[in-house]
Amino acid sequence: MGFFNKKEGDSAKTDWKITEKCLDLILESAKSSYPNEFGALLRVDTERKDTIIELVLLPGTISGDSHAIFRLHMLPIDFSIVGTVHSHPSPSPYPSDADLQLFRKQGKVHIIVANPYTKSSWNAFDYDGNKVEIQVI
Ligand SMILES: [Zn+2]
Repeated sequence: MGFFNKKEGDSAKTDWKITEKCLDLILESAKSSYPNEFGALLRVDTERKDTIIELVLLPGTISGDSHAIFRLHMLPIDFSIVGTVHSHPSPSPYPSDADLQLFRKQGKVHIIVANPYTKSSWNAFDYDGNKVEIQVI
């Protein structure tokens, strides 16, 4: 059991949404972290559990050019956290092998934002690395 509210084998598809404000913050944070990576957790609204509204910055997050940016053991149990976001200094908004390992460990939805960090340079994935759509609201 991890701190994410992940349901193993849950085949029900979530209709993910993210607020434009939250997406803007992700893109700005990724831009200002460049050429390092930016990483954070995704928090949903407590009533609309399919809507990502907030970033949770990790204590002790390492900003570096490796993918070892998430120190998951340092985190409190928080069921409003549904996944992760991190940036790629490269133009590839697709998960690396290390990313896929992270995704499979915990979380239901994972966002990768790639250089140049615009509204068309990001993708979202489920814990298996399949691309999922997130509607910007
Ligand atoms: Zn990555």
